Amino acid sequence: MKKLSILMLTVALPVLAAGQQFPEFRVNVIEIKGRSYSQTEKMKRAVTIFENVLNDAAFQKELTTKTFKSDRDDDLVPDPTASRVIEKIYAGRELYNPEPNNAADIYWYAEKTGLWKRMTDRCNTIGYGYPGEKEIYTYTCLLKEKDSLAKLAGHIAHEWSHKLGFVHRAEDHAERHLTVPYVFGDLVFKHAARWTGAD
Ligand SMILES: [Zn+2]
Repeated sequence: MKKLSILMLTVALPVLAAGQQFPEFRVNVIEIKGRSYSQTEKMKRAVTIFENVLNDAAFQKELTTKTFKSDRDDDLVPDPTASRVIEKIYAGRELYNPEPNNAADIYWYAEKTGLWKRMTDRCNTIGYGYPGEKEIYTYTCLLKEKDSLAKLAGHIAHEWSHKLGFVHRAEDHAERHLTVPYVFGDLVFKHAARWTGAD
């Protein structure tokens, strides 16, 4: 068994020399729970789109051109290059499970948008997740929104990158959009539009 896991580790570690293909990326759904059947179905479609986008050649090509900037000292990689980000993302090594499996392990739950949040935030914050934790939460205000599949795919990409250890400051500032979760999530959102179909 020990030998097998060492072997798997060797096989799964992506090597990204110039021009080399990205490893095949999978979304490994462990649990997805909306607050209704239709929300759960929508979340499942969003993770499938997330998977399709990560294996999409146009997305991969654009990802290699991106610039990243850390805004916290405890970022997984300080000011990472695109190839470092790609290596980390496609390895899929969540902080709580250091074995790389080229997969995003998904535990995703809907959280009811409370009255206070509806009044003060108006779904500006669409969800959350923390480095080192398995679960990602999304407010029902986004799940109920029409045509939100691409947004949901970008959101799950952003939150899942936190599970790898990529972080950003909580408050908005001029360069926050250059952190890995934002660049990655925004790019998944942009390319997701080609995979959504009718929402
Ligand atoms: Zn975030």
